[in-house]
Amino acid sequence: MVSLRFDALVVGAGPAGATAAYTLARGGARVALVDKAVFPREKACGDLVGPRGLQVLDDLGVEIPDGLDVGDMLVVGPTGRRVRLPSFAGASYPGRARVVVRSVLDASLAEAAVNAGAVPFTGRAAEPIEEAGRLAGFTMSSGREVRADFVIGADGAASRVGTAAGLVDPKRVLWGFAVRSYVEQRVDMPVIVLWDEEPRRALPGYGWIFPGPGGVANFGLGVGTLSDRSRGATAARLLPAFTAHLRALGLLDRDPGPDARRPVGGWLKMGMVGTTPAAGNVLLVGDAAGLVNPLQGEGIAQALGSGRAAAQAVLADPSQAARLYRDALASAHLPYHRITAALQGALLDRPRAVSALGRLLTAPGFGRAIAGGWSVFWTELLDGAPSGPPRSVAAASMRIGKALTGRGPTAAWFEGAYPTPPSRNARAAGDVALPADVITSAS
Ligand SMILES: Cc1cc2nc3c(=O)[nH]c(=O)nc-3n(C[C@H](O)[C@H](O)[C@H](O)COP(=O)(O)OP(=O)(O)OC[C@H]3O[C@@H](n4cnc5c(N)ncnc54)[C@H](O)[C@@H]3O)c2cc1C
Repeated sequence: MVSLRFDALVVGAGPAGATAAYTLARGGARVALVDKAVFPREKACGDLVGPRGLQVLDDLGVEIPDGLDVGDMLVVGPTGRRVRLPSFAGASYPGRARVVVRSVLDASLAEAAVNAGAVPFTGRAAEPIEEAGRLAGFTMSSGREVRADFVIGADGAASRVGTAAGLVDPKRVLWGFAVRSYVEQRVDMPVIVLWDEEPRRALPGYGWIFPGPGGVANFGLGVGTLSDRSRGATAARLLPAFTAHLRALGLLDRDPGPDARRPVGGWLKMGMVGTTPAAGNVLLVGDAAGLVNPLQGEGIAQALGSGRAAAQAVLADPSQAARLYRDALASAHLPYHRITAALQGALLDRPRAVSALGRLLTAPGFGRAIAGGWSVFWTELLDGAPSGPPRSVAAASMRIGKALTGRGPTAAWFEGAYPTPPSRNARAAGDVALPADVITSAS
């Protein structure tokens, strides 16, 4: 049997894994980048890369072709009322997002990693290999053994690496399932739809229609399922009714019928809760670490940021990599996720309350008054936001959220998983202190 040895084995070549492999390879590490799919491959996604994600791509110097820049976002409430959420540039991110079809984004990132020196393997990381009581690699579906000092789990929400390393408590995870399709239609700006699937009973999630390159729009819907993954089928079941709702709202010109591309769905793991992101020589990044925003389902930016942070932690100090990475993640995401994960856990099975909240947020006057703060808060853009009323509203939302969610099972899980505050040298995921000779961006 062929056995190969590397400094790091990255399982999964999506945004998180490709970024980790790219950063490690540029830092001089010998990296294996393994994916069960042949790229370009399809990925269920709304294809919207948020401002922080664009910033990471810019920092790394990775060029992504074929995108469409977008700014403000429209939210349509359960009554059909609309609120426009403005986009702002912050100190640490641009004032725009970008729609890039995932087959294009992910193939570009994986190619950048390989060009930087990562060694690609196509195949499934199947059987874990243990050495001295720790995860030392995987036997691939091809039968080849790939071993490494570090294993980076970038293998998505249902991470094999996370399970093999015993880092996931499935009973505590906040799962979601979302399904998307494409249709030829020009759309002015990204639209999020808060939908009462029955009168005054909200969908435990939301739907969307986003513009796309070449006049092809991406639409779909997602539902939160708490720890019960059997509820994920709801998203696919409700897609036809949601499509009819989009038409009734005037957001789809016509019944997409055969013009719509076959829907594709995928799991989301949200709010960090239930997953320990790193222990010993195993680091989980992106969806594997459960970094999807519990309020609006964004995960690409977190995947890019965490992939970079994990790689930088390994390069900075291999003996402290897990701690450095946990600190970086905690500093960047913990305050927001411990609030929003608890909010989702508390609200998901209360469709009447969610419907009432959706009506309030999109009520004339109120919705307009808080739109700027809402925009900053639910996209996790408070850190680095410019001063002014939107920042104040978002900061107040954090304070209220903290007061409301300080107790309960979600708060207790976080107390156990993150007992100490992050050290001061980890300001943000991606800002791990590095030795001077480590290369951090393409030049
Ligand atoms: C329908 C839908 C819409 C979404 N819309 C948005 C959006 O508009 N914007 C946004 O920011 N986020 C969105 N998300 C979330 C976003 O897609 C994820 O957060 C993002 O893909 C996470 O990237 P990742 O690299 O962690 O994982 P992934 O992109 O899932 O990549 C994981 C990779 O690991 C590989 N893999 C898995 N298991 C193995 C194995 N055992 N061996 C080898 N390879 C393996 C897979 O083939 C895959 O390539 C959406 C999600 C869904 C489901």
